[in-house]
Order: sequence, then structure tokens, then C-alpha cells
Amino acid sequence: MTMRSHWMIWRISIWRSERKIPEQENRPALPVFIMKKGTHTDKKQTAWIHTVKKLTAWFHTEKQAYPWRRERTPYSVWISEIMLQQTTVATVIPRYHQWMEKFPSLEALAKSNEQEVLREWEGLGYYSRAKNILKTAVILNEKTGFPSTPGELTALPGIGPYTAAAISSIAFGRPHPVMDANVKRVFCRFLHFKTLNSEQEREITRTLNTWIRMTEPGPFNEAVMELGQRICVKKNPSCSFCPLGDGCLAYKRGDQNSIPEVKSKKYRAHESSVFLLTDSRKLLIKQSRGNLLKGLWLLPKVPHTDDKGREVFIKKHLAREFSLVGEFKPLIHAYTINRERLYPFHYKVIKKIHLPAEEYRWVEKKSLSRYPFPSVYRKIIQSW
Ligand code: SF4
Repeated sequence: MTMRSHWMIWRISIWRSERKIPEQENRPALPVFIMKKGTHTDKKQTAWIHTVKKLTAWFHTEKQAYPWRRERTPYSVWISEIMLQQTTVATVIPRYHQWMEKFPSLEALAKSNEQEVLREWEGLGYYSRAKNILKTAVILNEKTGFPSTPGELTALPGIGPYTAAAISSIAFGRPHPVMDANVKRVFCRFLHFKTLNSEQEREITRTLNTWIRMTEPGPFNEAVMELGQRICVKKNPSCSFCPLGDGCLAYKRGDQNSIPEVKSKKYRAHESSVFLLTDSRKLLIKQSRGNLLKGLWLLPKVPHTDDKGREVFIKKHLAREFSLVGEFKPLIHAYTINRERLYPFHYKVIKKIHLPAEEYRWVEKKSLSRYPFPSVYRKIIQSW
């Protein structure tokens, strides 16, 4: 027996051809794994190939028919991935349809303006995402369209490593794994990491980099994402339906519910009195100055105070004469780490004062739909 017979040479390209995965232009060559037969590495590699096969097979049969999967262009991947950050799939689906109707292409988006884009983004929160989408669209429209590598993609406004890996793998077939909270949770459980430090994160990255080269990069990333969204969820994962079940250490040990350990989030709680100031036809709105909500419109407000405090504030800053009409149920405005309880009060303005036009506007009810508001403010306005 020659030395060669003691070694197995795994050419993943052979496996790929069996799976009829189309060749894609610029796809980097898949690696050749060289393992000593019968060793731990050999067994692990064989098990991993089996697991990756199961995972991608699961994805091909079980994947959801999300609208952004109908046509996998860099534009559709980009918009859907940015929308899905911090937002549930159920919320994103109708919003994605609306977005594509309004901005069906990169060119259409690049020709719009910030107020239109913010209006379309209303209710999705984290409004800097919408502003960066517009900036990136303008840049790409002036160039030759989307680049395909994560390095070039992350140089664009608002595109981080996760979105870059998603675009590069799903739209261009390049083997760059995505890593977000869902993916980390899946692999913390699979590899049995109770907490996640930088060494364990590197180990997860190494595993993903190996796995993604065993199959089609786009479907692999989508499979991992969908697994984290639907099966390996935070509480009570559906392990008996999971394609990773055979190799998952947390499932084997029965402690999947306590992995990874969850650190409680700290929120900043505050309260504000919010003013619906109206005359017979119009409402007073105010442009947001804060960094987080810049570009959006709000209602005038003050740190929550009593009747007297509110009247003093309005008289000093907003109107000469006014009378209280009523008050509405308090609502919570949640943005980043802020949890702001809003107490809305409706006042009828009898005598106005001059207000700086770049900050305040009196707007007719029928025209309010043109202005972008955080969704909680839209709710308050709709009660007028
Ligand atoms: S077996 Fe359970 S814990 Fe393990 S990856 Fe699958 S769903 Fe998550």
C-alpha cells in the first residue's frame, strides 16, 4: 500500500458537480481538504459534510417563499437585508413590496430624495439605515452598479460585514459567511459555547468558513439565517425538526434553552408631554434635530410635566393663546436604547406666534402624509 492510500483527498468540486451546482463567474476555487484516514479530523470532516448536505437539502425543501427570493439581484438582497435588521420578517414582507413599487430599481432610488425615502421607511425605525440606503444608491448609480466583494461593499455607507457577506454570497455566489445574532445563537448551541467570547467567535467563523466552501454559498447563508429565524429560535428551539440536530452538542446535552446565556439589556427610560397644537385646519409639526431621528418630523414636546408646566412652556415657545381640548392614551416610543413614554395633549391654538420656518411648520391634515414621522407620532396624529 502506498503512502497515498493512507490519505483521503476530498475534492469538493466533485461533490459540487454531483449536486449540479452551476458554475458562476469569478467564484473562487473551492478548497481541497486533505485528511488522514480514520483520524479525528477525518471523522469530523465527514460528519460536517453530512451536516452541510442536510442543512442545504432542508433549505431547498423548507425555505419560505419570501418576496425578496423571487429574483436574487444585488438590489433585492441589499434592500431586504437592511430592512430585516432589527425588524421581523412579518413586518418586512409588506414593506418590501411597497418599497419595490416605489423604488423598483437602483436608478429609481438614486433619483429620489431623503424625505421620500424616509417616508417610505416610516415605522421600520433606525432611520439612519434609510438615509444610508439613499447615499449608497447615489454612489452606485454614478458608478457601474454593485461590487461583488465584501471589501468593496463595506466601503459603501450603511453596508456592514453582515450585509456585505449576504450580497456577495447570495447575489454573486462568493463564499463569505454571514454572522449575526441568529447565526451566533445557532452555532453557540451546535458547538456548545455557553457564552460568546472573542476566541469562540473566531471558532464559529472558522466553522462557517469551512462549511460554506462545502456547498453553494448563497443557499448556505440563507439556510443558516432561516434556521436561526424559524427553528433555532431564542426560546424553545424546534430541535426535532432541525437539520443540525444530529451533530448539535446542546441538543445532545439537553441544555439548548440556556445557551447562549442572555445578558439583560439596559434601556434609557424617559417621559415627555407631546403637543397636538391645531387651529381650525392645520397642525403644528417640528423637525427633529437629534442625531437618531434627524430628517424626521415630530410634534413639539417637553419633558413630562403637569398642566401648569405645559401651559408655561407653550406660552413661552409655541402659541400666544390656546385652550386644552383633551388628552390621549400614553404611548411608548422605542428607538435604539430609548424607551420614551409620550403623553399626548391636544390644544386648540387661538393666537399664533412667529416660529422659525426651518424648524416648525403648520400643515393641513391632508398634507401630513407627505412628511416622514416615527410611527408612534403618526399614531398620535391620526387621533386628531
Ligand atoms: S438542534 Fe436545536 S439547538 Fe441545535 S441547532 Fe438545531 S434547533 Fe438549535
